[in-house]
Amino acid sequence: TTIHQGQQNLLVDKRRTCDLPGARLPSRRSVNVKVSGPASSFVAFVHTFFSSKAFKQDDHIPDLFAFHPNARFTDDPLYLSGKIILQDKASCFPAYILAPPARDDAVVIDATAAPGNKTSHLCAIMQKKGKLFAFERDRKRYSTLKNMLSKAHCSNVEAVNADFLTISPNDEKFRGVTHILLDPSCSGSGIVNRLDHLLDNEQENEVDSERLNKLAAFQLKMIRHAMTFPSVRRIVYSTCSVHAIENEHVVREAIKTEEAMKGRFRLGRREEVLPTWHRRGIPEEMDSPNDAESVVRCSPGEDATNGFFVSLFVKDGDVAESSA
Ligand code: SAM
Repeated sequence: TTIHQGQQNLLVDKRRTCDLPGARLPSRRSVNVKVSGPASSFVAFVHTFFSSKAFKQDDHIPDLFAFHPNARFTDDPLYLSGKIILQDKASCFPAYILAPPARDDAVVIDATAAPGNKTSHLCAIMQKKGKLFAFERDRKRYSTLKNMLSKAHCSNVEAVNADFLTISPNDEKFRGVTHILLDPSCSGSGIVNRLDHLLDNEQENEVDSERLNKLAAFQLKMIRHAMTFPSVRRIVYSTCSVHAIENEHVVREAIKTEEAMKGRFRLGRREEVLPTWHRRGIPEEMDSPNDAESVVRCSPGEDATNGFFVSLFVKDGDVAESSA
């Protein structure tokens, strides 16, 4: 198969890098490893293991390292104890593009958090500073989220078992929120092991269009709600769907809503949204080629990732804080 099912990212707790299982891998192996914390902490780590050619630095995310798909971490005590987190490369894009600040006064929301991969990534980028609220409406998944956050020692995260849509943006707790990550429920059509079914069964796809429309309406509602937080400056919206209806179409609508106008939101420009990533949005599905350039797509089978989509909404006048 041309789909690289085994390609994964690992979010590594910086205090445990010396124990990284990559050190024990044969030299020809590689997997993607996301190392949390300030890059300078890992220079020695990179140099140490580069000499053994155990892995290579990712070309798009500076603190991401590539290992061979055959590398196995699932039995490793570091994985089992939550010190490393397996994550597809594309799933590392949203938190990196959101680029929340690592400051004591930072207030950030992960609106749809379970199982918590992106929450832990955000926490790592924030260097456990400030406050990160992680919402999850499903009780069972909330419990998974809590376990993961506790295992990964995400000390600046407050997990909340609530529907993000019921959260009042004017609540004293949330008035200062500047960054929101939205990775809501989607069709999941980009997930590699669901693709064969999808490609083999076009009829089922047609039947699914009603479901896709419903999902898109919900996704748009989530973005509109995020835009009403009084201090919010950056919103990342992502899906693991390959359907334009959940991706480009949702973004195209969102940027024209009353909330977007009132909040003076614009689409992040290409230079703010992983500019070195080659695959962008589908121009025919957006209002202009420029708009399509400003969003990121990942194509399963071509990019060694799951199918994925990421977009950024920026409050007009916001100065980009990162080179993402
Ligand atoms: N970002 C997560 C990660 O990387 O681990 C994956 C999120 S998953 C695609 C979407 C999650 O959002 C599901 O667990 C779902 O239960 C939750 N969810 C959906 N709608 C929600 C809402 N309105 N408020 C809070 N959570 C919601």
